[in-house]
Amino acid sequence: MRRWLPLALLALVTGMTACRVSPAAYGPSPVPPATATPTPMLFPTFSPEEEERFAAQRLHLVERGIIGLGIEDPVVIEAMKRVPRHRFVPPSYVGHAYVNDPLPIGFGQSISQPYIVARMTEALRLKPGDRVLEIGTGSGYQAAILAEIVREVYTIEIVRPLAETASARLAALGYHNVEVRHGDGYFGWEEKAPFDAIIVTCAPDHIPPPLRSQLADGGRMVIPVGPPGGYQELWLVERHGDQFTTESLGGVVFVPLTRELR
Ligand code: SAH
Repeated sequence: MRRWLPLALLALVTGMTACRVSPAAYGPSPVPPATATPTPMLFPTFSPEEEERFAAQRLHLVERGIIGLGIEDPVVIEAMKRVPRHRFVPPSYVGHAYVNDPLPIGFGQSISQPYIVARMTEALRLKPGDRVLEIGTGSGYQAAILAEIVREVYTIEIVRPLAETASARLAALGYHNVEVRHGDGYFGWEEKAPFDAIIVTCAPDHIPPPLRSQLADGGRMVIPVGPPGGYQELWLVERHGDQFTTESLGGVVFVPLTRELR
């Protein structure tokens, strides 16, 4: 573990998001024949040989870049093994889907680095019956990881085309326990609160008070906080009644949380 620490820190600093799984309970339902042929706009069609190659690459990434960097929660590891990241990246980046890096997804945004996705998810200590809120849907990858583990996932994205594509992609992949909304996640999702866990995958310069108040008693939130382009710290916030505790999980670089609907 010791020799992986610098790598892990580097990954944490260069990356973005995280998660954990309950394999059979809340994974995607089998994709019915009608949706077996994905819409070309969402992701290309891959041959069985390509799918096999992606599966092998994914396993390798999980062994080296997730377990090898210190992620221990079996539920998170199982989710990372299951979610097909190559279906969440733009066609031109498919060849890099299983490299442990964030990748561009358009609109100046990015899909988070797999290690960071795993790290943040693990920190949430999810349980199968949990209801989780994500701020910053992006590609929908982190939401899919969450959906593998918990009962209900609610996710908000401020860029409309990203929200729409992610919603269609998640549905096509059989993730029916995820609801995507276009909006400013600063305000959370009042009608669906309280949440057992909240994960923020873009960085505000302070913790939005509505997110604190929408956390259930005993709830956990992971959130990067810091100025755009500057040093950001990843915080684990826990609620105990009216008390909140915070613990630093280290330095990270996320895209900023913006306030303008696009
Ligand atoms: N979780 C994503 C990656 C997120 S990148 C994935 O797995 O692919 C951060 C995302 O946060 C971007 O898509 C950005 O548009 C979005 N974002 C920024 N500010 C936001 C806000 N106020 N509310 C909701 N989403 C926001």
